[in-house]
Amino acid sequence: MREEARAAAGRVDEARLWQRHMEMARIGAIPGGGVNRAALSAEDIAARQLLLAWAAQRGFSVSVDGIGNLFVRRAGSDANAAPIMTGSHMDSQPSGGRFDGIYGVLAGLEALEAMEEAGVATRRPVELVAWTNEEGGRFPPCTMGSMVYTGARPLADVLEVTDNDGIKLRDALAATLAATPNARERAFNAPAAGYIEAHIEQGPLLEKARKTIGVVTGIQGLRWFNIEVSGETAHAGTTPLGLRKDALRDAIAIIEALREHAHDFADVTRFTVGRMLVSPNSPNSVANHVLFSVDLRHPDPAKIRALGEAVAPLARKAAKFCEVKVTPTLADDPCVFDAGVTGAIESAAQELSLPYMRLASGASHDAMYMARVCPTGMIFVPCEKGISHNVAENAQPADLAAGARVLTAALIELANN
Ligand SMILES: [Zn+2]
Repeated sequence: MREEARAAAGRVDEARLWQRHMEMARIGAIPGGGVNRAALSAEDIAARQLLLAWAAQRGFSVSVDGIGNLFVRRAGSDANAAPIMTGSHMDSQPSGGRFDGIYGVLAGLEALEAMEEAGVATRRPVELVAWTNEEGGRFPPCTMGSMVYTGARPLADVLEVTDNDGIKLRDALAATLAATPNARERAFNAPAAGYIEAHIEQGPLLEKARKTIGVVTGIQGLRWFNIEVSGETAHAGTTPLGLRKDALRDAIAIIEALREHAHDFADVTRFTVGRMLVSPNSPNSVANHVLFSVDLRHPDPAKIRALGEAVAPLARKAAKFCEVKVTPTLADDPCVFDAGVTGAIESAAQELSLPYMRLASGASHDAMYMARVCPTGMIFVPCEKGISHNVAENAQPADLAAGARVLTAALIELANN
């Protein structure tokens, strides 16, 4: 590791980073210690203004794009070099916690501050981004800011989306942009040399393994299906079991067969049946129709493909009495993060003597879209009991600071390439 990377990592200020989380948590605070900071709301605007005030104290330049993604830039020595980017989001779930999203923004700002204080010059600029509307709770879909920024979906496509009060995204966005008049306008998808997103894990693995740093290898892929089982309804008291076409009995057999197929010794595959509609749904009638959902996830591209392809044949084989119809409803391939970025994060953790492990992300993040346009990686830090999207979400100041140190060192390494 470069000496300046180590020096800057050493300037990460745990107390300042924690204090800023607590200040941000006051914006949209709700009972139980959580936050409700919907995208493009008055609370979102207040969070943006606070971030810009902190950036202004250091004289960093700020810009904003057409969907309201906010950028804070620390100049590099080569003005023509594409920046290394870092960031996450400031919006929250309606009943959200104090760390989801905002951690990646504040850790990124802390990295810029630490570079300033250590007097480190990087060849590339280092740019912090606060993505608009990652949660999608008010204006679906989620990860909207990075989706539009990277060109996966045009801006015009999302402007007419309305929230539950009938407010158009177009108008909420205009109000948000008007509230930060000093931010320079910037184009979508400007060239970037890399992107690192820091985030709380939102799962229990780091805590369970007693590791401080998660080197995220990618975001797992998923396959969704609706499975319909059609039989015949009959009287529960008079119809012998051998004569029934019981749709619920077959549905249970299918679910068990799929669950068994999805089981793996390492417990990596996620298999969920979370929704079931039974007809006629009466205690003394045999079910003639059952519709249920299947949600399968795995980080390995070949594995998730094979798991998905096995669903229809397994379902048909497991059904003994009824007809089965399998409809795929969603297929996202896993995103595999860049080996160079992942390597830089891993060596930073090693050099700073922080216990780390490699793991895949179970949840989606803006990094998923950035991975399509530049080398990308993520850093996870533990959160208490893996609880997230909940007012009880919690993290330790020392873990947050450790993640920011790894981020600082990795950004400096990549910004000098
Ligand atoms: Zn998040």
